[in-house]
Amino acid sequence: MLEALKPQPEDQILMLMDQFRADTRADKIDLGVGVYRNSQGVTPVMGAVKSAERQLWESQTTKGYTSLIGDPAFVDAMRDLVIGDAVDPARLAGAASVGGTGAIRLGLDLARLAAPQATVHIPDPSWPNHRAIVAAIGMPMKTFRYFDADENALDMPGMIADLGAVAAGDVVILHGCCHNPTGSDPTPAQWADIVAALSGTGAVVLVDLAYLGLGDGIEADAAATRMLLAGLPEVIVAVSCSKNFGLYRDRAGVVLVSGQSAAQAALVRANLATLNRLSYSFPADHGARLVEMILADAALRAEWTEELSEMRNRINALRRDLAEALRDAAGSDRFAHFGSQRGMFSRLGATPDEVRRLREDHAIYMVGDGRMNIAGLAKEDIPRLARAIAEVCG
Ligand code: PMP
Repeated sequence: MLEALKPQPEDQILMLMDQFRADTRADKIDLGVGVYRNSQGVTPVMGAVKSAERQLWESQTTKGYTSLIGDPAFVDAMRDLVIGDAVDPARLAGAASVGGTGAIRLGLDLARLAAPQATVHIPDPSWPNHRAIVAAIGMPMKTFRYFDADENALDMPGMIADLGAVAAGDVVILHGCCHNPTGSDPTPAQWADIVAALSGTGAVVLVDLAYLGLGDGIEADAAATRMLLAGLPEVIVAVSCSKNFGLYRDRAGVVLVSGQSAAQAALVRANLATLNRLSYSFPADHGARLVEMILADAALRAEWTEELSEMRNRINALRRDLAEALRDAAGSDRFAHFGSQRGMFSRLGATPDEVRRLREDHAIYMVGDGRMNIAGLAKEDIPRLARAIAEVCG
């Protein structure tokens, strides 16, 4: 029966990683996969995580099962971090997930249980896995206007028109901060317009929050999610702890859902528990437990906050340096947006052929749509990168 399986398309980013590894040029530059690297080019285990792991090793007395929604203390700690007091906690239900991807999957599975024929609206462009997950679970899908590539700016009129026209019960995916792949987020005033456009439609928003704290700081980065929660009756928030806690492979994440009443929250919690039961019973606990310990302990939390600020400041300094180097190399301001965009990614606005030439002629690796992981860049590589971009795309 297995012969009936169809070959699957190779993941573009993983393929690029293999090509990069095989490239023997000493000065190659990897702007592909979305991981943070420090000034030594390493994706480190954060100090607060190491300390929490040490404490956990000493204090943990059992590895017995948690609950189907994971450790409730982790879910509550993430609720406090992400949502604060934006909604009455009685209206909220949550469950630990397998990373941010698992949280998105869980949120969409919940939506599908409630409304199997609901259309899922995805920003154009978006993280490619959004489209892939929606296709895999068989929900109808549409894109809405988000970014104007010619202007290198949000298409606000297009977005507001598209979002105002979504049907009741539909699901709208929004990136809470640090939009992947464009690095362009709405301003607080634009978010207010988005909330206004959605309110009254009866649509459910799914906020993908994979980069909390890596844009302008935790409070600023959580503001849009809180605004959506405060302004709309039903919101699903899919949170990843992969980047901001550096826990990539430990797969820590959480889905938080605000319903219209405490009774609805209880119903949501029971459905999340069942969905977990059907796929893996109990979500992984190790990474989630570390996050909970860090958030609950003043010293660990202060250490983590400091390390997160260092990561954010480094990314934003790299952004400014790259924008400046490109201004000098290209003799124009056409790349100035790299300095003001936020998060790990920006898009070069290069053609597929230019992306290929950067790779083949200059050993510079970026995803085919010109997405660059600025958080993976070494400061010393910026002048060479800027010269190559100016030469190929100038
Ligand atoms: N959403 C977005 C927009 C992302 O970029 C990522 C990570 N690349 C995720 C969700 C999921 O992250 P993870 O499953 O690794 O926690």
